[in-house]
Amino acid sequence: MPLHIATPLLESRCLGLATRRSVWLKLEALQPPGSFKIRGIGAACEAHLRAGARRFVSSSGGNAGLAVAYAGRQLSVPVTVVVPQSTSARARALLRLEGAQVIVHGPSWQEANVRALSLLAAGDAFIHPFDDPLLWHGHASLIDEIACSGLLPDAIVLAVGGGGLLAGVIEGLRRNRLEDVPVIAVETAGADSLNRSLRAGHVVELEAITSVATSLGAKRVCQQAFACSRAHPVHSVVVSDLAALNACRHFLADHRLLVEPACGASLALAYDRSPALADYSRLLFVVCGGATASLAQICQWSRRLRRAGDGQPLPTGATDTPDDS
Ligand SMILES: *Cc1c(COP(=O)(O)O)cnc(C)c1O
Repeated sequence: MPLHIATPLLESRCLGLATRRSVWLKLEALQPPGSFKIRGIGAACEAHLRAGARRFVSSSGGNAGLAVAYAGRQLSVPVTVVVPQSTSARARALLRLEGAQVIVHGPSWQEANVRALSLLAAGDAFIHPFDDPLLWHGHASLIDEIACSGLLPDAIVLAVGGGGLLAGVIEGLRRNRLEDVPVIAVETAGADSLNRSLRAGHVVELEAITSVATSLGAKRVCQQAFACSRAHPVHSVVVSDLAALNACRHFLADHRLLVEPACGASLALAYDRSPALADYSRLLFVVCGGATASLAQICQWSRRLRRAGDGQPLPTGATDTPDDS
C-alpha cells in the first residue's frame, strides 16, 4: 500500500462556468498530509527504508517537511526536520503533530538546510523537497490515476515551485503515452524562477523570493523541470499574489476547500479567465493543496495587498469571508 491515496477527480461546475469550459479537478488537497507531495516523498521514504534508512531528515518547514513527517510516522521511522526561524508557528505545530523532531535554526532556508545536511550520519536519509528522481517517479502516479479514469484533458494546469510536480507530471504523461497533452505551468510574481529561466534560456536563480506563495519559493527550479519544459509542450504563466489569494477565497466559497496561495495561483487562471486557457476546452487542474496557510492569514495578506494598491476589486461572493480560521 502506498502512503498516498488515489484522490477524487471531479468536474467543477463553478470553474466550468467561470471559464466557459469543462474543468476537472484532481483533489490533491485531500492527501492525508494536505498536498500532492506525499506521492513522491512517500515513494522516496519507502525506497530509503528498503535500503536500510533508520531516520529521515528534511529541511522544509512547508508541505515537503509535513509529508516526510507523515511518511515517517506511517513507516515507524523517526524524522528530524530543521526549519528556519521564519517558519510559522502553525507549520511547526503541524510538524510536531506528526511526531517529527523540529529543530529551528537560522534566518532562512539556506542556513536550515546546511544544518540539516551537517546532521546526516550513517543510516540517515535526506529527503529533498523537489530535486530527486524518486520524487518525480512518485508524483507521476497522479497521471496514472487520470489515465485510468479515462479522462483525456486538452491541457493540465499546475503550480510550479522547484519543479518536482512538473517533472513528475511530465514523467506520468510520457509513461501513459500522453506526451502530446500540454502543461500550463503557473507561478506567482516573485517566485517565478521557471518563467525567468525559460526566458533566459538557462536556469537562473532569483535573488530573493518576494511572493506570499511560500510553497512556490524555490530560488531556482531543478534542472529536470527546466529540461522537461523544453522537451514537452509547457506554457509558463505568472500571476500576481493578489490573484492567487482571491482564487483561494473563491475556491473556498465554491468547493469548501482551503488551499494555499501556491495552489490558488493555478486556480487564478480559471477565475480570471486567463487567455492562456483560450485554446483548450477540457482542462484538468491539479489542486495541489497545501496545509500551511490559515484563512486568517490569507485574508490578512489580501487586505495588505489591496491596501498597497495592487488592487482589483474583491471577488463577488468572497467579500463576506470571515477572518477567523
Ligand atoms: C511544493 C508545493 C508546490 C510546488 O511543487 P514543486 O514540486 O516544488 O514545484 C505547489 N503547491 C504546493 C501546495 C506545494 O506544497
